[in-house]
Amino acid sequence: MYTPAPRDPKAIPVRINLLSDTQTRPTPGMREAMARAEVGDEQIGDDPSVNVLCERVAALLGKEAAVFLPSGTMCNVTATLVHCRPGDEILAHGSAHIIAREGGAHAALGGFQITALPGADGKFTPDTFRSALHPRTRYQPPQTVISVEQTANIGGGTIWNKADLDAIVQIAKSNGLATHMDGARLLNACVATGISASDMASGWDSAWIDFSKGLGAPVGAVIAGSRDFIDEVWRWKQRLGGSMRQAGICAAACTYALDHHVDRLADDHSNARALARGLSQIAGIDVQQPETNLVFFKPDGAGISGDDLVARLRPHGVLLAMMDGRIRACTHLDVTAEMIEETVGLVREIARGA
Ligand SMILES: *Cc1c(COP(=O)(O)O)cnc(C)c1O
Repeated sequence: MYTPAPRDPKAIPVRINLLSDTQTRPTPGMREAMARAEVGDEQIGDDPSVNVLCERVAALLGKEAAVFLPSGTMCNVTATLVHCRPGDEILAHGSAHIIAREGGAHAALGGFQITALPGADGKFTPDTFRSALHPRTRYQPPQTVISVEQTANIGGGTIWNKADLDAIVQIAKSNGLATHMDGARLLNACVATGISASDMASGWDSAWIDFSKGLGAPVGAVIAGSRDFIDEVWRWKQRLGGSMRQAGICAAACTYALDHHVDRLADDHSNARALARGLSQIAGIDVQQPETNLVFFKPDGAGISGDDLVARLRPHGVLLAMMDGRIRACTHLDVTAEMIEETVGLVREIARGA
């Protein structure tokens, strides 16, 4: 079955939701901002709340223009559709969202192939990128785009350092490739490092941020780039059915998030560190040290599989996910320090009995 089963109404309610930062619910303040939003017809550029948001994000990322899209996936898909032609090759880390989690969109809609680059923690080195480049002959697919995830999701919410980002941009430019930054959690990287979003995205032809992750908005993502690039994204947005009407209701939530939910990402990072610290004190639990709000761990050394531990925590109202063979815990604005403490205690108890 391709579709998740509907929620079982008799299931034990979730109290501690570490499944994903997409699980956040709009806060009362955000809902108020949405209710007050001035709206218009977004499709003809006439929604003032959407326009304000796009200007904010273009400035934040240091780009000429930006466009509001329903999802981060549509940001990635429209970006490669603009950058590439059928048969082109995109390079990305093997764990990238564009490879594993977009339903094959880049092949299905664009006819592009994506080459998976190796590297620890969701990142490849500038040298790995350089050695994956091949001469421009008629035998080989044109290499058109290099894509990075800041932060790298399956890599562990890890942060690309600025020097590597700059080196990758430089290699891409001197070899005629466009540069694309999947910034689903870019602001997590900015808050963790103190580097501004425009510095992080500088030199990247396209970059986007997701509002439905740790920023806590119900829907939406904004992609930014040159005026010409954004013009072409608009055409694909129209073609894919992503043009909206009174989308200002949603855009107002995103602008509210920029005003109120960015600095507080530091709390999520500190909760993630506390979770990792607590789990690593339990014998047999192997924890990847978090850099942002994602904590990956394996309990197998404690005599329990990841699947079993996730299943044993669920009756306590704790929701976690298995992701590529490890458990992923995600902190966000609906997760408190007390919930982290309780989760660590439950894992300790279950591991003791295992
Ligand atoms: C969530 C995510 C996306 C897709 O964003 P949606 O808004 O869920 O479509 C893309 N890339 C990364 C790294 C993500 O974590």
